Amino acid sequence: MSARRKDSITEGKDSEKSGSCSKSVSEKEKGMQCELCEDWFHTSCVNISDELYRCFSKNDGLHWFCVKCNGNFFRLFNSVSRRELRIDKVEERQNTTEISLKSVIDLQISENGNRV
Ligand SMILES: [Zn+2]
Ligand SMILES: [Zn+2]
Repeated sequence: MSARRKDSITEGKDSEKSGSCSKSVSEKEKGMQCELCEDWFHTSCVNISDELYRCFSKNDGLHWFCVKCNGNFFRLFNSVSRRELRIDKVEERQNTTEISLKSVIDLQISENGNRV
């Protein structure tokens, strides 16, 4: 029982650590650098297979973000696209108010023209 408990405790600690390992990556170890926060992570800590690691080291064009930044990036991306949508809607509204204003002015002009 006591041994099992110990295991579950270390397991919990490991899952907390994953993605944000406090140990620095030495030159001998395989590490990934997050493109956003520029932190280094052990490939084993961020669940990157040797195959994937080789892919990344071969291709400079591949981008990798750590778990933390990945979440932040998508949150940022979502908020930006949502903001753009909002701007579109505001612009639409401005256009319609402009049109209605113009029609009001046209009406006033024609009314005045009729009266005078
Ligand atoms: Zn690590
Ligand atoms: Zn990062």
